[in-house]
Amino acid sequence: MRPRIGVLALQGAFAAHARAFTELGAEAVEVRRPDQLEGVDGLVMPGGESTTMSMLLESSGLFDPIAKRLADGLPVLGTCAGMILLAAEVVDGRPDQRSFGAIDLTVRRNAYGRQVDSFETDLDVPELGPAPFHAVFIRAPRVDRAGPDVEVLASWDDRPVLARQGTVTVAAFHPELSGDPRIHSRFLEEVIAPRNPEKRLSAMPLASSREEVV
Ligand code: GLN
Repeated sequence: MRPRIGVLALQGAFAAHARAFTELGAEAVEVRRPDQLEGVDGLVMPGGESTTMSMLLESSGLFDPIAKRLADGLPVLGTCAGMILLAAEVVDGRPDQRSFGAIDLTVRRNAYGRQVDSFETDLDVPELGPAPFHAVFIRAPRVDRAGPDVEVLASWDDRPVLARQGTVTVAAFHPELSGDPRIHSRFLEEVIAPRNPEKRLSAMPLASSREEVV
């Protein structure tokens, strides 16, 4: 099976994600319209500006179809702004900014400073093996709270920076920029054989999913 990975391409750092998946043997398709979501086995929400992406998700008509696919268990990888878009709660966002509430995190936008404060560091990620993962942080969101079902895969400065809940994986940094394919490769494994789909937030009886049950 050659998985087809949709890369949300409304704005931001989507091209390097698409390259990373192509190099790993997957098919990468850029997603700008709802019909381009059809047939994708996994989705990436890249870094960029979550406020702009939120607006473009609405104007493109993609927000609701993506929310539906996430509720159905579509594996998703959100990096930086993508992490903000997937979080249950966003602090210091624009008041009209929307998120999918797919992972039980409270994230604070730009909490590691402005562009000039962007930084790189080596992370210990036991799940990826003994070699550290070189992580590039660009005006990254900071995790202020992680719910009990969130698996923390890596932390920096005592805060989670790589985390997973069910089929939702998020990174506060830009894994597509360090030339290390291990996070993309791990995500592809998740697409091929999801490990804990029952743990995902969208599988829980939240208000949004309750409507579908009625
Ligand atoms: N600061 C951006 C936001 O709030 C995220 C930055 C990034 O994705 N590199 O959306």
